[in-house]
Amino acid sequence: MLDERRKACLAAMGIPLWELRRPASVESPELPAPPPEIEVEPPPPAEPPAPAEPARPAPSASDPSVLDWDGLETAVSQCRACSLCETRTQTVFGVGDRQARLMIIGEAPGAEEDRQGEPFVGRAGQLLNNMLAAIGLSREQVYIANILKCRPPSNRDPRAEEVVACSGWLARQIALVEPELILAVGGVAAKNLLDTDQSVGRLRGRVHALGEAQVPLRVTYHPAYLLRRPEEKAKAWDDLQAIWRQLRGEAVQ
Ligand code: URA
Repeated sequence: MLDERRKACLAAMGIPLWELRRPASVESPELPAPPPEIEVEPPPPAEPPAPAEPARPAPSASDPSVLDWDGLETAVSQCRACSLCETRTQTVFGVGDRQARLMIIGEAPGAEEDRQGEPFVGRAGQLLNNMLAAIGLSREQVYIANILKCRPPSNRDPRAEEVVACSGWLARQIALVEPELILAVGGVAAKNLLDTDQSVGRLRGRVHALGEAQVPLRVTYHPAYLLRRPEEKAKAWDDLQAIWRQLRGEAVQ
């Protein structure tokens, strides 16, 4: 929630407050009264059991593209597709509005995320929250996920085979959220999503198209980098303003 001071600032600047695209929930109607008890005839003698249907494999990790949110979250929590499962405390699935217009994709969980099971909850997460607040968005209004669902030991860079092993989970998250715009924060997210070696400096400042669905994607600096290099925050601010304009439906470059 925006605090009153920020609301007043935004109002004074003529910036409309963000509203949820779709209502969060609809109140369920009252349940009808249970039927009065009825006499039940004794059941007929049991027939011999029908032969059991052949077991059908549950939608599984081998094809994330068929999973719904619950199935996906469960499958991720049980994933053992790479060796990061040996060292994680828990998987870090994703958080936020599953119908968000804006999806943020980072690199991988750090120590605090591994402990809490939620992306971007450490110092970098604090800065990410502030960056979002600067364009009138709360953490709850976007969907936040990472390239990797498990923490690489000592926060080393993700390895290619780990990214590949995890890519189906993220692809399914993107397909389920159907964001209008993705923001890749940092080089690891940007390079893996766009399959390029170009630096963030070269990738930011324009709209890319992700995958077959051609989801619009922008790139900016990782908040952890901005904590080390605060002089780069002005560029990140430019990127955020471009996102804000794009979500308002203004012409984008
Ligand atoms: N950095 C990331 O890229 N993701 C997190 O969840 C935390 C830190």
